[in-house]
Amino acid sequence: MLAERINDLLPQTQCTKCGYAGCAPYAQAIAAGQAPINRCPPGGDQGIAALAKLLKTDTLPLDETCGQHLPLQVAVIDEQYCIGCTLCIQACPVDAIVGASKLMHTVVAQHCTGCDLCVSPCPVDCIEMVTVSPVRAWGSDDATASRQRFEARNVRLAQPEQEPKKQETTQQIGDAVAQALTKARARRAAATTP
Ligand code: SF4
Ligand code: SF4
Ligand code: SF4
Repeated sequence: MLAERINDLLPQTQCTKCGYAGCAPYAQAIAAGQAPINRCPPGGDQGIAALAKLLKTDTLPLDETCGQHLPLQVAVIDEQYCIGCTLCIQACPVDAIVGASKLMHTVVAQHCTGCDLCVSPCPVDCIEMVTVSPVRAWGSDDATASRQRFEARNVRLAQPEQEPKKQETTQQIGDAVAQALTKARARRAAATTP
């Protein structure tokens, strides 16, 4: 199927920068002729060229309204300010963050795709994206590993017994965020008072 062959060429970071909910929906849109081939910043020019070859079309410049093609980034959590709300864990499409409610969270760097989806949900802005050192590009082995982690996560989330836990966790998160935000603001205010 064409959409699957297109998806095989996409980077599998699931970053949504293309404007779709992940690599597979973008692949389906391309296959249906509903999306151009130049909306994937992680894939960059090389990815566009591969898609053009498969589809026997001309290449296009990357549509930078979707984002820039950057060297591989990794999320870093400033654990000093983490309030353990778990919102970043829920946002991470490849389960690259470990932690538990009200406990410090950390990123497992070798699993991080650099998608930056964990950054904006963090209520205390303690997640930063940094370029990996040594600098390197995202490769096909990374894509394969990321796809496996994404699919394993989807299987886990689809299990029916996860639902009650999810509801319970949402309530716990609300309480934890409210309490911890108050503490974090007080801590930051104290740190900035001369
Ligand atoms: S890696 Fe590319 S195709 Fe996949 S979600 Fe991100 S922008 Fe879309
Ligand atoms: S840790 Fe953040 S940047 Fe890394 S894969 Fe997960 S959501 Fe994306
Ligand atoms: S979203 Fe921010 S504060 Fe909440 S657990 Fe993740 S890093 Fe910590």
